[in-house]
Amino acid sequence: MSEAFNVAEIFGEDVFNDKVMRERLPKKVYKELKKTIDEGTPLDLSVADVVAEAMKNWAVEKGATHYTHIFQPLTGVTAEKHDSFITAPREDGTILMELSGKELIQGEPDASSFPSGGLRATFMARGYTAWDCTSPAYVRKDAAGAILCIPTAFCSYTGEALDKKTPLLRSMQAINEQSLRLLRLFGNTTSKKVTPSVGPEQEYFLVDKKKYLQRKDLIFTGRTLFGAMPPKGQEMDDHYFGTIRQRIAAYMKDVNEQLWKLGVTAKTQHNEVAPAQHELAPIYSEANVAVDQNQLVMKILKKTACEHGLHCLLHEKPFDGVNGSGKHNNWSITTDDGINLLDPGKTPHENIQFLLVLTCILKAVDEHADLLREAAADVGNDHRLGANEAPPAIISIFLGDQLDDVVAQLISTGSATHSITGDKLDTGVKTLPVFSKDATDRNRTSPFAFTGNKFEFRMVGSKDSIASPNIVLNTIVAEAFCEACDELEKAEDFEQCAHDLIKKYATEHQRIVFNGDGYSDEWVAEAERRGLPNLKSMVDAIPALVTEKSVSMFEKFHVYSKVELEARVEIQYEAYAKAINIEAKTMIDVASKQIVPAVIGYTKSLADTINAVTAAGAKATVQVGLLNETSDLLEETKAALGKLTELTAEAATIEDVEKQARFFHDSIVPAMAALRAPVDKLEMIVDKEAWPMPSYGDLLFEV
Ligand code: ADP
Ligand code: MG
Repeated sequence: MSEAFNVAEIFGEDVFNDKVMRERLPKKVYKELKKTIDEGTPLDLSVADVVAEAMKNWAVEKGATHYTHIFQPLTGVTAEKHDSFITAPREDGTILMELSGKELIQGEPDASSFPSGGLRATFMARGYTAWDCTSPAYVRKDAAGAILCIPTAFCSYTGEALDKKTPLLRSMQAINEQSLRLLRLFGNTTSKKVTPSVGPEQEYFLVDKKKYLQRKDLIFTGRTLFGAMPPKGQEMDDHYFGTIRQRIAAYMKDVNEQLWKLGVTAKTQHNEVAPAQHELAPIYSEANVAVDQNQLVMKILKKTACEHGLHCLLHEKPFDGVNGSGKHNNWSITTDDGINLLDPGKTPHENIQFLLVLTCILKAVDEHADLLREAAADVGNDHRLGANEAPPAIISIFLGDQLDDVVAQLISTGSATHSITGDKLDTGVKTLPVFSKDATDRNRTSPFAFTGNKFEFRMVGSKDSIASPNIVLNTIVAEAFCEACDELEKAEDFEQCAHDLIKKYATEHQRIVFNGDGYSDEWVAEAERRGLPNLKSMVDAIPALVTEKSVSMFEKFHVYSKVELEARVEIQYEAYAKAINIEAKTMIDVASKQIVPAVIGYTKSLADTINAVTAAGAKATVQVGLLNETSDLLEETKAALGKLTELTAEAATIEDVEKQARFFHDSIVPAMAALRAPVDKLEMIVDKEAWPMPSYGDLLFEV
C-alpha cells in the first residue's frame, strides 16, 4: 500500500454513500430512502428490497463475499456475525449471491452472550439488529476478505435497547425537537433539522509487537501492571508535535489511506505528549456517524499496527507515570441549513439566541455534572480522571475571557453591553504577517471547554465508545432547551422573558464556570466549597445513572427507560469487577510464574558470586548488601502476592454486583498497588538480562 494515491479519488470509494445511491437506485427509490434518512419516515419493505439488491451488487463488485449487521452491544466495542451472500444451490448445482430487503433491515443475532444487565431475564431472549440507514454501509477489507458492513441498532424482543446506538439515535431526536422549538421562537422558519456534530480526537500508543508479546500484562489487560520508570520519561517535552519517526509515519500513511477509502475524514495526526503516544483526529460529522466511525478508526488503528509489526494500545493508562490517553469529544449543534447554534458571532453580547443556548448549556451541565462524569467512566479512565493528570474528575466549564466577561455582565447588570475582541498579534518580526488573535486563549486543563463554536468534552477515555457522552450531552441540553421553551412560549413579552431566563440561568449556575487551573489542589477545595460533585472512580460515578432526576429526564425524552438505566448500572458494575479481576489474576500469574522465579535465580547467582569472592579471600560487601536488599523485597513481594490471592478469592464469593465492584475498588486495587511496589523496586536491582520482560524504556523508546 505504499504507492502514491490521489486522496480525492480514493475518498469514500468503499462506502455506499449518497453518490453511489443516486447512481444505482431508481429515482423513486432513492427519494424514498433519502426521506427516511433525512426525515425519519418509515421505510417500506419493497423499497428495502431494491436498496438491498443495489447494495449487494455494489459490494460484490468490490469483492465482498459476506455481509454483516455491525452493532454496538454494551461491551463498548462493536460486534458482528458474517453471513455470505450465497443462496442454496439450484438444480444445476450453481448458486446465486443475494441480499433481501428483510436481511438488510433486520437481523437476529444470538443475543444471549452479550451483556444485558438482566434485561433478558426480565424480558425475552431474542435480540434484533435493525438497519440504521443514517450511517452509511461500507465494504471493509481484511484477512477475512471483503465484507459489507451494515450499521445497525440492537434491541430486545420488547424493544429495550441492548446497545449504545439506539439511545444515541433517541437522544438525537430529542435535541432535534427541542432545538427546532427554540429556533422557531427566535423567528427561524427555514431550518428543518438540527443535529449534534461531533469530532472525536483519538489518542493511542504504539509499541513494538515482539516486545508486546513478551508482556502478559499488556496482552491480557491492555496496560502494564508492573514496570519501573525509565531514566527518561516525558520531562523533556520533546515528543509532543515532534518529528514523526519513519516507521510510525509509514503506519500513519497506511491508516489514513484505509480510513479515507472508508469515508472517514482523517485530518490531523501528530505525536502526543508521552513517548510512543500519537493522535488522530477526523473532521467532525453527525453524532451517530462520528460514533460509528470512531469505532472504525480504533479497529483500523489496531489492525494496521499488526501489519506493521507494531501493537496499538488504546488503553487509557498503558504506562504508570507517563501521560495517559483520552478522546476529546468536540460537540456542537447545527441546523441542516448550516447554522451552528454555538457560534457566538463577533459580538456575542448582542446575540440573544446564542446567550440563551449558552446559559442553557451551563444549566444542563451544572444540573447533570454527575451524569456527564458517569458517561466518561471506564475502568481504565480511573487512572486518569482525578489521578493528577488530564482532566480532573470534577466537571466544570471553561468559557474563556470573552464569554466569561459577557456572562459576568449579565449576572451583575442583567444585560451585556460589550464583548472583548481579539487584538492584533504583533510578533515584532517584520517579515511575519500580523494576524488577529482569538478573543480567548485556550485552557488545556478544563474537562468541558468552550473552544470558539463548540464545546470540547475532554474526559472521555481513549478506548471507550463516544456514544454515552453524546447521549448525555444531547439529552441534558434538550431538557434545558425544553424548559426554556416552556417559559418562552407562554411569555407575553418574548424579549423580556429571554433576557430574564439568560440572567437567571447565568446567575444560578455560575458555580459550574471555572477558568483557572483544573489540575491544582486549590481547585479541588474550591469545587467542594461550590458543591460540585467530585466522583473519583467509576464505582462512585455509576449511581448517577439512576438518580431520580436522571430517570425522570431520560424517560421524559424517551432516551432510556428506567429498566434500561438499571440494566446499564448492573452492566457497569459487572464490567468494573471483571476488569479488575482479570488485572489481579494477571498480576498473580506474572508475579508467581515469571518475576519470583527470575528474582530467585538472581539471588542464587549473587550467592554464588559471594561464595566465590569470599573463597578467593576478598570482601563481598556490595554483593551481600544487594542480596539482602533483594531478599527483603522478595519477601515483601511474596507476602503481597499471598494477600492479593486471598482477596481475589474472597471477591469471587460476593454475589451482589455493586458490593462486589466496591470490594474490587476498595480492597483489590490497593492490594495490587502493594504487590507492584516491591516488584518495581526489584526491577531496578535485578540484572536486566535476568528480568523476564521488556522494560518501560524498551517499550517506550525503541519503537
Ligand atoms: P484542537 O482542539 O486540537 O485545536 P480543532 O479545534 O481544529 O483541534 O478540532 C478538533 C476536533 O474538533 C476536530 O475533529 C474538528 O473537526 C472538530 N470540530 C471543529 N469544529 C467543530 C464543530 N463546530 N462541532 C464539532 N466538532 C468540531
Ligand atoms: Mg482538541
